[in-house]
Amino acid sequence: NQTVKYSLTTKILIGMFLGILTGVLLRNIFPESTFVDHYFTNGLFDVIGKIFVASLKMLVVPLVFVSLVCGTCSLSDASTLGRLGFKSISLYLVTTAIAISLAIGIALLISPGEGVNLTSGATFDAKAAPTLSEVFINLFPSNPIKSMAEGNMLQIIVFALLFGISMAIAGPAGQRLANVFEDLNAVIMKLVSILMNLAPYGVYALMAKLFIVQDFSTIANLMKYFLVVFGTLLIHALITYPVLLKALSGLSPVTFLIKMRDAVLFAFSTSSSNATIPVTLETVTRKLGVNNKVASFTVPLGATINMDGTAIMQGVATVFIAQVFSMDLTLGDYLMVILTATLASVGTAGVPGVGLIMLAMVLQQVGLPVEGIALIIGVDRLLDMTRTAVNVTGDCMVTCVVGKSEKQMDLERYHAAEAGLAEE
Ligand code: ASP
Repeated sequence: NQTVKYSLTTKILIGMFLGILTGVLLRNIFPESTFVDHYFTNGLFDVIGKIFVASLKMLVVPLVFVSLVCGTCSLSDASTLGRLGFKSISLYLVTTAIAISLAIGIALLISPGEGVNLTSGATFDAKAAPTLSEVFINLFPSNPIKSMAEGNMLQIIVFALLFGISMAIAGPAGQRLANVFEDLNAVIMKLVSILMNLAPYGVYALMAKLFIVQDFSTIANLMKYFLVVFGTLLIHALITYPVLLKALSGLSPVTFLIKMRDAVLFAFSTSSSNATIPVTLETVTRKLGVNNKVASFTVPLGATINMDGTAIMQGVATVFIAQVFSMDLTLGDYLMVILTATLASVGTAGVPGVGLIMLAMVLQQVGLPVEGIALIIGVDRLLDMTRTAVNVTGDCMVTCVVGKSEKQMDLERYHAAEAGLAEE
């Protein structure tokens, strides 16, 4: 049904626009009003926005577990699984490395931090970057229920894979259980469709609140940094991804970008690749035609280990902070930045603001002052939204490439006029 499917995107856009308008008006007509603050900013808008994000997050763990078990137990053999893992993990790492190299290159060319004189009283606590062995050890859950309660995506993925493989080889018992999981998957996907209809209201509330609380004067001070990050994110999304998609799979990048719009809007307004997983999964399976066997694995994996947008912010921020503090970085340092940022992204979940925590690890690794983060924190909220949209686009691009190369893709559906989300 054409009308309904367009209307969700349109409704979200209207919600976004009205939210921005409401925020700007309330902020200017009633500046610093305790009434607005109490009843709207931290009242109505906060409640609706949080319920919307919670309704998405609520689905993430059950959806990832159930759909991945279904996907795994229907894979024909273990070597397929190995190939899938190898292809997607390599592509995720390579695209992240490209993203951060691009960001460092552009930042060195434009020098956003040169001549900037900024001080900030704020401090920032840095954690050490996880070592490679820690990343591996942390993949394995000692208690899968705990992993689910904590939303530890990589551990849930490992458990679901093992569970799905066992189901596939457990004979009739496995077969009976597979039917139950298939049914569960269908029901959860239905719930995703229903809850997606909340999006226009949720997005309205999130935007209204953001535009009341965001301090836009900080953006003016950091304009150059902001624009370099923003511009590089656009270049990566609109040039790197289309080129890679076309080169690696021959699929039409224009169709891809157009069909990405709902997922991009959800990612942008929630700032969380994790919370967007249900929508990402719907987009790649129902709009782009990738089989759930591939998508149920690559999407949650990507939401956790693939953060190209975040890597771009880290690349630009590293150069910016080095310039503001007049510290020179060597080529070796930059390679270290690329390595640490890529590794840090593997071990960290895609949730709002986590990019700054990863940046702290990167700065520490090359001996830059972690307090530098306090300089850019003021504009991070808006950049977080944008880079999350890029992160999710990257997950979907890799999913399409892997799906196509594994012949697990319905090309007719990819090219078809859209089967919209959230209708039916
Ligand atoms: N919010 C981002 C995400 O969920 C991570 C970050 O860059 O902070 O993908």
